[in-house]
Amino acid sequence: MNDVAANRSDMERTDAEARIPYRHPQPKECVPELVIPNAIPEDERLWVPQQENVWFRPLCLSATRGYWMNLLRVRKSGVLSRHRHPQPVHGFVLKGSWHYLEHDWTATEGSYVYETPGETHTLVVEPDVPEMITLFQVNGAMIYVDPDGRVQGYEDVFTKIDLCRRHYTTAGLGESFVDQFIR
Ligand code: FE
Repeated sequence: MNDVAANRSDMERTDAEARIPYRHPQPKECVPELVIPNAIPEDERLWVPQQENVWFRPLCLSATRGYWMNLLRVRKSGVLSRHRHPQPVHGFVLKGSWHYLEHDWTATEGSYVYETPGETHTLVVEPDVPEMITLFQVNGAMIYVDPDGRVQGYEDVFTKIDLCRRHYTTAGLGESFVDQFIR
């Protein structure tokens, strides 16, 4: 066998091995993976109302790690109440745009946003934006505050689960509908 032929057969062997699936069981502590086709749903019932003109669509509600992944949808002139983050938040804007009253930048479609722990802000969608949808990963809690930082309320993954359960029951999807998003 010449060098070229030997190289080719090495490459073929490598390529064939690359396509062999892992052939052992996953760790028994692994919880089931989560795949959600059409994450931006057409079924309006999947959007859980949160405030006037504000909805969220749960994707992963991590009860064991204390965070949640969700799509936030805000329509025309919506405001997500002033809140403080004790832990980081990651966001990716899928549609429309929004800004914080506390900053001078605007998050537009395709933007990635990192919200730093300790930050307090108020998310606003302007009247000329008919709809914005942003994927957010929120860790720990959102603490709702007045303009002076006095605590008005909070949300965590457990209050999110409760809100989903109540909404999906009312919407006719059943109280266990939310369970598929919980890990
Ligand atoms: Fe925030």
